[in-house]
Amino acid sequence: MQKTFIMVKPDGVQRNLIGHVIQRFERKGFQMIAGKLMVVSDELAKEHYKEHEGKSFFGDLMGFITSGPVFAMVWEGTNVIDGARHIIGATNPLEATPGTIRGDFGIVTHRNLVHGSDSEESSKREIGLFFAPEQLV
Ligand code: ATP
Repeated sequence: MQKTFIMVKPDGVQRNLIGHVIQRFERKGFQMIAGKLMVVSDELAKEHYKEHEGKSFFGDLMGFITSGPVFAMVWEGTNVIDGARHIIGATNPLEATPGTIRGDFGIVTHRNLVHGSDSEESSKREIGLFFAPEQLV
């Protein structure tokens, strides 16, 4: 069964949207197999977002993702990687369709509430960064 890494970012946690995000994934039929509230260290933030290193927004992204607790999760289900990205919506919340999480709750790209892996390769990498194998139930 396919797995994906989903994270409610610091803005989503501050706005008390953890439960809402979980509910959207549960209602769709996906299964949460790991979840934890945590603060992302500088090292983990750099590793997680290493594809963006050198871009103009990288410093802001590092500051933001380490600014407060996140809720990190692993979800499982058929085509869950693409399915999750449809539930989350486009990167820029102004372009995200209403009915998606970013479309309903976000305004700007640098505060877009939720992260979801974009491929099988990134989901494996990101799950491995945030969870030990025995934490997946
Ligand atoms: P995420 O990886 O968080 O799920 P994404 O895959 O939709 O987002 P990416 O292009 O991978 O989008 O960008 C990663 C994150 O970097 C975005 O979610 C956003 O927080 C930030 N970001 C991307 N582009 C910009 C930008 N132009 N200005 C500010 N922040 C940006």
